[in-house]
Amino acid sequence: MSKPIARSVKAYSAAAATSPLAPTTIPRREPTDLDVQIEILFCGVCHSDLHFARNEWHFTQYPAVPGHEIVGRVTKVGAKVTKFKLGDLAGVGCLVDADLSSCPYCKKGLEQFSPTMVGTYGGTDKHLGGSTYGGYSEAIVVDEHFVLSVPKNLDLAAVAPLLCAGITTYSPLRHWKVGPGKKVGIVGLGGLGHMGVKFARAFGAHVVVFTTSESKKADALRLGAHEVVVSRNADEMAKHAGTFDFILDCVSADHDINAYLGMLAVDGNLTLVGVPEKPLPVAAFAIIMGRKSLSGSLIGGIAETQEMLDFCGEHGITCDIEMIRMDQINEAYERMLKSDVKYRFVIDMASLK
Ligand code: NAP
Ligand code: ZN
Repeated sequence: MSKPIARSVKAYSAAAATSPLAPTTIPRREPTDLDVQIEILFCGVCHSDLHFARNEWHFTQYPAVPGHEIVGRVTKVGAKVTKFKLGDLAGVGCLVDADLSSCPYCKKGLEQFSPTMVGTYGGTDKHLGGSTYGGYSEAIVVDEHFVLSVPKNLDLAAVAPLLCAGITTYSPLRHWKVGPGKKVGIVGLGGLGHMGVKFARAFGAHVVVFTTSESKKADALRLGAHEVVVSRNADEMAKHAGTFDFILDCVSADHDINAYLGMLAVDGNLTLVGVPEKPLPVAAFAIIMGRKSLSGSLIGGIAETQEMLDFCGEHGITCDIEMIRMDQINEAYERMLKSDVKYRFVIDMASLK
C-alpha cells in the first residue's frame, strides 16, 4: 500500500517525560473523502495534557503532542464531507476515530467507550501510523463524524475548553439526572470543576463547591455555587455530612475520597472524573453505610458533545479563561500544578506561526 500524502505543520511536543515542551514539526495527512482540515485558532490546556506529557498514566509514547480542546476554521474538506464547508468554525475534542459501523457502543453514541476509539493524542493513527498528535499545533485533519459545530454567538477562545472540560462535566451531570431538588457537590475548582458548577447551576440543582483554595471562595459563588466549603476546614465539612444526592470529583491529585463519600446521603452517588496518577483507596464502610455508589465517567460521545455545545450557545455558557502564548505552556503547567489557573488556560495558536 502506498503511504498517504502528508504535509508538515508546526507543533509543540514533549520529547520525554522529564522534558519541557518545545517547538517541533509533525505530519498531518491530506484530507481523505470524509476528512475536514482545520486551522487551529485556540487550544485549551487540560490537566490531562500535563498527565500525558509527563507520562503520569504510564502509556505515553514520545514525541507527545497534547491538546484536545480544539477550535478553528475549516480550510479544506474531502469530497464526501456534508457537515462542514470551507470557512466554517469547527471544534475537535478528545476523540478522532472509532469503528463506527461495527461497534455497538458507537451505534449508541458512546464512541468514548468503544474498544476501537482513537484519542486525539496518544492514540494509534490509522492513516499515517504511529501516534496521534493533539492540538498544540497549527492544523489538524479529522473525520467529519468527530468534528463538532461551534456556536457562533460565543467567544471562540472561551468555547475551546468546552470540548473536554465542558463535556466531561455535562455528561455525568445529565446521566445522574442532576436538576431541581438535588443537592450537588463539585470537588476541585479547576478547569473541569468550574464548568461542573456552571452546568449544575444551569440544570437547577443546589450547588456546593468543595475547594482546598480559600482564595477561590468568591469566584465559586460568582460562577454559580450556592455554598462553598473549604475542604481543609473540618467544621465546614462536618456541617454537610450525609446530605448530598450527587458529587462530581474533579481533583487531579491524590486526596481522601472517603471524606466525600461521607458527604453523600443514602443512595447518593459520587462520580470520579479526575484521574490522579495513583489509585485512591476506598473504605468499604464509606459506601456500605447508606448504599452509596462510586462510579466514573469519561468525556462524552459525539452527539452529546454537540448537545452540550448547543446548550452552551442557547444559555450563553463559556469557560473562564486566561489566554497564553504557545511558548508559555511550560509555565502554565507549573501554575496548573499549584491550582493557580482561573479557570482554564487557552493557547492563542497564532503565537505558533
Ligand atoms: P485542574 O484545572 O488542574 O483542576 C484540578 C483542581 O483539583 C485544582 O484546581 C484544585 O482545586 C484541585 N486539586 C488539585 N490538587 C489537589 C489536591 N492535592 N487535593 C485536593 N484538591 C486538589 O485540572 P482539570 O483540567 O480540571 O482536570 C482535573 C482532572 O480530571 C485531571 O486529573 C484530568 O486528567 C481529569 N480529566 C478527566 C476527564 C475524564 O474524561 N474523566 C477529562 C478531562 C480531565 P481547588 O483549588 O478548588 O482545591
Ligand atoms: Zn481533557
